[in-house]
Amino acid sequence: MKEQQAWHSKTAEQVFHLLSTSNKGLTDNEITARTEQYGPNRLTPAKKQHPVIKFLSQFKNILIYVLLVAAVVTALLDHWIDAWVILSVVIINALVGFVQEGKAEKALDAIKNLLSPQAMVRRNNRTFTIPSDQLVPGDIVILQSGDKVPADMRLFSVRNLRIDESLLTGESLPAEKNSKTVKSDTPLAERANMTFSGTLVTYGKGEGVVTETGDQTEIGRISSMLGKVETLETPLLRRIDEFARTLTVAIVLLSALLFGFGVFARGYSLTQMFNAAVGLAVAAIPEGLPAIMTIALAIGVEAMAHRKAIIRRLPAIETLGSVSVICTDKTGTLTRNEMTVKSVALPGKRFEVTGSGYDPHGTFQLDGREIDLRNHSQMRAIAHASLLCNDATLQFRDEQWTISGDPTEGALCVLGKKAGYDPDLERQNWPRIDLIPFESEHRFMATLHHDHTDRTFIYLKGAPEVVLERCTKQRHGEAEEPLNYQYWENITQKMAAQGHRLLAIASKKTISGQETLTFEDVASGLTLIGIVGMIDPPRDEAIVAVKRCQQAGIRVKMITGDHVDTARAIGKMTGIGDGSKALTGTEIEAMSDEELQQKVNGIDVFARSSPEHKIRLVKALQSNGSVVAMTGDGVNDAPALKRADVGIAMGQKGTEVSREASEMILADDNFATIASAVEQGRTVYDNLKKSILFVLPTNGGEALSILFAVALGYTLPVTAVQILWVNMVTAVTLALTLAFEKAENNVMERKPRKSGEPILSGFIVWRIVYVSLILLSGTFGLFLWYEKAGYSHDMARTVAVNTLVMFEIFYLLSSRFFVASVFSKKGLLGNPAVLYAIGILIVLQSLFNYTPFMQTLFATVPIGLSDWLTILLVSSSVLFLVELEKYILRKRRADSLTI
Ligand code: ATP
Repeated sequence: MKEQQAWHSKTAEQVFHLLSTSNKGLTDNEITARTEQYGPNRLTPAKKQHPVIKFLSQFKNILIYVLLVAAVVTALLDHWIDAWVILSVVIINALVGFVQEGKAEKALDAIKNLLSPQAMVRRNNRTFTIPSDQLVPGDIVILQSGDKVPADMRLFSVRNLRIDESLLTGESLPAEKNSKTVKSDTPLAERANMTFSGTLVTYGKGEGVVTETGDQTEIGRISSMLGKVETLETPLLRRIDEFARTLTVAIVLLSALLFGFGVFARGYSLTQMFNAAVGLAVAAIPEGLPAIMTIALAIGVEAMAHRKAIIRRLPAIETLGSVSVICTDKTGTLTRNEMTVKSVALPGKRFEVTGSGYDPHGTFQLDGREIDLRNHSQMRAIAHASLLCNDATLQFRDEQWTISGDPTEGALCVLGKKAGYDPDLERQNWPRIDLIPFESEHRFMATLHHDHTDRTFIYLKGAPEVVLERCTKQRHGEAEEPLNYQYWENITQKMAAQGHRLLAIASKKTISGQETLTFEDVASGLTLIGIVGMIDPPRDEAIVAVKRCQQAGIRVKMITGDHVDTARAIGKMTGIGDGSKALTGTEIEAMSDEELQQKVNGIDVFARSSPEHKIRLVKALQSNGSVVAMTGDGVNDAPALKRADVGIAMGQKGTEVSREASEMILADDNFATIASAVEQGRTVYDNLKKSILFVLPTNGGEALSILFAVALGYTLPVTAVQILWVNMVTAVTLALTLAFEKAENNVMERKPRKSGEPILSGFIVWRIVYVSLILLSGTFGLFLWYEKAGYSHDMARTVAVNTLVMFEIFYLLSSRFFVASVFSKKGLLGNPAVLYAIGILIVLQSLFNYTPFMQTLFATVPIGLSDWLTILLVSSSVLFLVELEKYILRKRRADSLTI
């Protein structure tokens, strides 16, 4: 069994020895044995609240207190049946809340599991990616900038490695790492040769051997971290919760006033007024609303995950609905990230390359005629450099050519192979001694090689302007000549205007025996070999999605590191910008924040921009009042992702660092997914509003009926326990169904919702009052009619209760669309949840009316067919009246109405 060791005080060799491993990695047998011994590399999840505690926490609610007091007083008044009914309703409500909360939590947990991180390991001397939870002690892990460290590790090879360890040490500056042994009593923050699980690589590369996994890691031992459980909460839910609480207190006070008024001013008995006051309280308090909203939100999160948008922070769902600008990357998001080299420019000539995708079959052509590469040493040279200054590999698997690594480099591999080179052989013959990896900030990559005769040279590839400024000469055939800057600039522009992504390739001879490559080595004195142009076609679905966003009043802006002409051309192909206006990073740098703020709205394409520009753009847009969604993938995108209202990270090519900084992750890196997430965000918000719009008038109608009865001196049209019944059965059936509503047709035709807009807009308040009054008139009216006709109180009340329930059924149908008509097949039958809920409610209501047990509990009497016809006639009026109101609204241009 592995002991807990002071790994930092041992040399790398000792650590390898102690863990029976080597820098080539573990063997298959070892891995199986260790997986069994140590288990998965996962932290034991925080202990969930015990179900009993969770159930009891459902009782923490003012309405429940009111009801419990009511039950006790009712019992003291000797109304035992009512007391039991109230108590049972309390318990059933708590049970329903408990089950619903559990469901919502489950939905969230399932989504968390989608976010499992990956690690690059070396096993059996082969390097590949595996899910981090499969790591075992002794595994060799390769870290690079942007990764999240997957386990505790002793580093043995380090290149400019910097790690953000603030999670463990609280130190905000990244720690510089090396592989030197330190004393055993060195504090954690100074163990430069160790990296710890959960920390983030902000720069450089490194290799380490896993020393501890799972709960044995430093982070695993800090138990406080494990206690963090995310709760279902968003600003809107919080506001609704607060609103419900304030409303409850107000209603309790109002009930007390009513009690006083009834007893003293109207001369009702104490018992009568007590019943009325309790009735009012249970009628008016929207006790089910917060739970319904939570469910609507959880369903929204699930639906988004199905559409490949994974929400990391819940409030983002709401913000998504109000996004007014989307700033997106180009490569891979708008385009397919499947690169193919199409042309190669050499001095005085431009060659075409045939073939498609990553299939390395194709030819080189000049003026439409195939050329023989044996006569074109410079073309061979550029293909050779393309292979060596390259980390990608090409393979033929499952009848298909695929690459692993960066697609830009994959395309260059294909170019090398088309030129007749074997990538593995070339890389063996010309071994790489050192490299400067590609980073978006400097836009180039350089490698140092030697051959068997110890000739040493550098290859450099990168954005043309970056490479050109480092070159003094250009290669021409076998010879070298002074660089013709103007020629290259012209050709660059021409190639970029076709939407090609460009890379210039250069070389430099150095002194033999050179072992390290510095930025200074590639700062000047290089010889340009040529420029390659590759295509990366736009995604068809992205083009459609851009259009949909624009129709939805959302501006789409492209922020790319690519050449300005390439960006313009791709922008034009995808419908972003007008193909002419664009700003480059250099131009942004020359502007003050105020100037940028003025310009930013009118420009949609930003090229050659780096992460610092992104953050300035977000700030400028936000100062103009926009709600900004911004995509990003690199380590340095993190600040802009955090600053944006919705930071969106890439699930495939994004770094762990960018994911940690984001609100949402695109599992497929696709722009179309952002558009559908916005649509879903709008839909969730709509459904939350629809739930409010449905629930509150019911409470309003019930409460008004009681207030009216007392004010006019009548007996109550519905008793407190009957109201409890109605609220309970409708909360578990009808009210939940609106959470399942699909997007309305016009959801992506409306302008974005203004952020900070109150949920109870003028329209919503109006609709609540309107429907409350309809419910009041119908329920109270029928009750009075039956009373006047000489029926018993119980009969009149049974009719009133059933009218109320039927009103809700008809109103639910109407509530499915805000202002659109529901008089269509889709409108009436389109949501199966609605139909099931109505079915269940009818069964429950029949039990309520016709079983002797219920008749005893709720003082109901069986009603006949003609009563039902009357009830249906009255209650269906709500559907027609609301549809009439919608019709008038539509006529008065309701589309411009703020819902
Ligand atoms: P975005 O994804 O934001 O749309 P991008 O992917 O086009 O941007 P970068 O990856 O930062 O932007 O690339 C910027 C430029 O750097 C490219 O136009 C290209 O010239 C050069 N470049 C890209 N990848 C490499 C690489 N692997 N090696 C050398 N140069 C590269």
